[in-house]
Amino acid sequence: MTPLTEPTIRASFVNCTKGEAKRLALPRDLAERPWADLDFLGWRDPAAAERAYLVAESGTGLLGVALRVAPQTGRVRRSMCSLCLTTHTGDGVSLMTARKAGPDGRAGNSVGSYLCTDLACSLYLRGRKNAGRRLDESITLAEKIDRTTGNLAAFLRQVIGSG
Ligand SMILES: [Zn+2]
Repeated sequence: MTPLTEPTIRASFVNCTKGEAKRLALPRDLAERPWADLDFLGWRDPAAAERAYLVAESGTGLLGVALRVAPQTGRVRRSMCSLCLTTHTGDGVSLMTARKAGPDGRAGNSVGSYLCTDLACSLYLRGRKNAGRRLDESITLAEKIDRTTGNLAAFLRQVIGSG
């Protein structure tokens, strides 16, 4: 994806208030992120374990979503990210919940999805980060990326309430 700057990122959020978007903690290593290998920008709030953020390019421009990370239960288990389909053990996958955008969100509605806890889906897909095991699939990297961005687009449509 195209490298993003702080103001662009802050302006992209659709499911939090302008004040929240202004205050939320951006990645400290924004300039060093491997942009060419990212299908979306995702990060955990370094100051608040229960917060995570995701910014992606969509047909209508940049779309930022604030997420709540459900606390881990502590059990050893294996689970799969619903975006990149990487399987992790332990706490590598977390349930993340996004308040819906607009009136729906103000009424308390949210959308949840199981995502890589570090939101590094793009790097797992490209083998830049190792999850220990991946689904043994015969499809190409380009197809995996397409599938991931498709899954992400479906999630974002749910958040903005158009799908
Ligand atoms: Zn993932």
